Amino acid sequence: MRYAVLGTGIVGRTIAAKLASLGHEVVIGTRDPKATLSRTEPDGYGNPPFAEWLGFHDRIRLETFADAAAFGETLVNTTAGDGSLQALETAGAANLAGKVLIDIANPLDFSQGMPPSLNPVNTDSLGEQIQRAFPETKVVKTLNTMNSQIMVQPSRVAGEHTVFVSGDDAGAKQAVTDVLISFGWPESSVIDLGDISTARGVEMLLPIWLRLWGAVGHADFNFHIAGA
Ligand code: NAP
Repeated sequence: MRYAVLGTGIVGRTIAAKLASLGHEVVIGTRDPKATLSRTEPDGYGNPPFAEWLGFHDRIRLETFADAAAFGETLVNTTAGDGSLQALETAGAANLAGKVLIDIANPLDFSQGMPPSLNPVNTDSLGEQIQRAFPETKVVKTLNTMNSQIMVQPSRVAGEHTVFVSGDDAGAKQAVTDVLISFGWPESSVIDLGDISTARGVEMLLPIWLRLWGAVGHADFNFHIAGA
């Protein structure tokens, strides 16, 4: 399968590396490949410069958002939440049409400092905004409620724990569930919450996730819905 992972941060890198390790063809999308490759400083979260990471992943290519999206049969949104709509518009509606878009982004708003708030929230969600903006695309929200390492290696957390899927298209959600199973998720861990409006709930888990991160002191934890 050909995948386009839109986003060069730790989530995009982690998902892209996992997909490539499973034998898929993977292109990562960015605003300006030359600018991204010329960065020499760690990013805002302390991750090494993208070019350094790419040097260890010679099967993965870096392209513009549009070229990556044109290449991918399945797309993954791993851009910053406040830039996701812009990134996808740059990718081009025609390059997104008819395809499954796995949306991992969270609409975190850092404008008032830490901890971030959510925008949109409560009566809308980023998942819904993306689905409305690209009606020909099958948006499936998933994996946004955990640290990136756990997304592709759920065994980092002992015992049973949960990954949610939200989306309007049943076939797309099944296809994404199959991707999750290939990442190591037991099918019994996947909870289908319903249509894309249920993305509101999983995006609103972020404030409690962030507080748990502080309370627990590490990010190797996840939500488990007991009795599901
Ligand atoms: P990030 O720093 O949040 O986002 C980096 C990406 O966003 C880059 O590709 C950047 O483009 C793009 N971007 C930023 N502003 C943009 C704009 N105005 N227009 C277009 N593109 C823009 O990366 P991350 O930490 O990997 O997180 C990715 C997403 O996953 C976020 O939405 C985050 O909330 C969510 N998430 C993160 C984690 C985690 O473990 N970190 C867990 C769950 C969900 P360039 O490549 O051009 O710089």
